[in-house]
Amino acid sequence: MIPYGRQSISADDIKAVVDVLESDWLTQGPAIERFESAVAEYCGARYAVAVNSATSALHIACLAAGLKQGDMLWTSPNTFVASANCGLYCGADVDFVDIHPRTYNMDVEALDDKLGKAAVSGKLPKVLIPVHFSGQSCDMSAIGDFAKQYGITVIEDASHAIGGRYKGHKIGSCVFSDMTVFSFHPVKIITTGEGGMVLTNRRDLYEQLIKLRSHGITRDPAMMDCKPHGSWYYQQIELGFNYRMTDIQAALGDSQMKRLDEFVVRRNFLAQRYDQLLAGLPIQLPTVMPENRSAFHLYAIRLKLDEISKTHQQVFEELRNNGVGVNLHYIPVHTQPYYRRLGFKQGDFPQAERYYDEAISIPMYYGLTDEKQEIVIDIVKKVLR
Ligand SMILES: *Cc1c(COP(=O)(O)O)cnc(C)c1O
Repeated sequence: MIPYGRQSISADDIKAVVDVLESDWLTQGPAIERFESAVAEYCGARYAVAVNSATSALHIACLAAGLKQGDMLWTSPNTFVASANCGLYCGADVDFVDIHPRTYNMDVEALDDKLGKAAVSGKLPKVLIPVHFSGQSCDMSAIGDFAKQYGITVIEDASHAIGGRYKGHKIGSCVFSDMTVFSFHPVKIITTGEGGMVLTNRRDLYEQLIKLRSHGITRDPAMMDCKPHGSWYYQQIELGFNYRMTDIQAALGDSQMKRLDEFVVRRNFLAQRYDQLLAGLPIQLPTVMPENRSAFHLYAIRLKLDEISKTHQQVFEELRNNGVGVNLHYIPVHTQPYYRRLGFKQGDFPQAERYYDEAISIPMYYGLTDEKQEIVIDIVKKVLR
């Protein structure tokens, strides 16, 4: 089976991990700072905070933004559940903005419309989480303008998108947002096994994030309410968590950062080849807007079902039965039973639902060889014929 995504681990990556295992520090050592600096520098952001998953990163980013009970968080329905769950962790309410029919990202016209109505009814969100689906940035300059106008904190869920660019800025630069979150799960662009990171240019948010990552504890005398009792002294000044990343993971991440550009070049090459060799089939190929360079975490095709004699499910199963490990991103979050119990229902976000009825993610990863890609293309053609 050719999987839809897969990590690439080099001899240098392995050596970096082994070096940590043989060192004095397995966690809270020097590899974390090295990895954080590498990502911050690459993206052009001032601060980076490594944590044990993007889910943790989203949680502490929301807390740093001050999200709490009685507040509202908006995100895209076409995402992994974590982009919405982080709002619920904070006791806030969650709502969604439907997607654009071609980029599958949050639709800024729908956002504009919903914000206008929310401003009238006094129900504006405190936090907005645009999700850069498949590695392509949302229209962040428009979203950033809305956020300024309405006083909203923007957290980019860039779990798919490290190595991508928008209007000449690296994703993660936080030029149009307050914070950006990356995931380092093995299917994402670079991996630490499990892991995530929050980037920001704001010192106040950075200080909050650092505290929340590690139990709400500080060792900085300036933040304490009394003089330190001695050099052992620390104070817990917030309710934080243990969301720390290990040095073992950070060393792998730092080593993977050196390969990031190569990963994204290869993914873009594979995408172009799919674009060329799948043209003419009854499918909608991905659309990348001219201001974007996608990191191509996913290559999602969309079936034109009125031109195909099979159902979506039949095409999906036939691809899998022929050895193509396809997947589906995403089941609209608002249709999950947990969210339906909160009051959402089928029909609430029709673009995301229609996309779900037609989409299939076909294999896309750095180690996908030209030969394997040709096999995928041949099988896709055979199944759709
Ligand atoms: C993978 C993913 C997450 C969660 O990442 P973890 O590191 O697994 O916690 C969140 N949002 C999106 C869009 C993702 O793809």
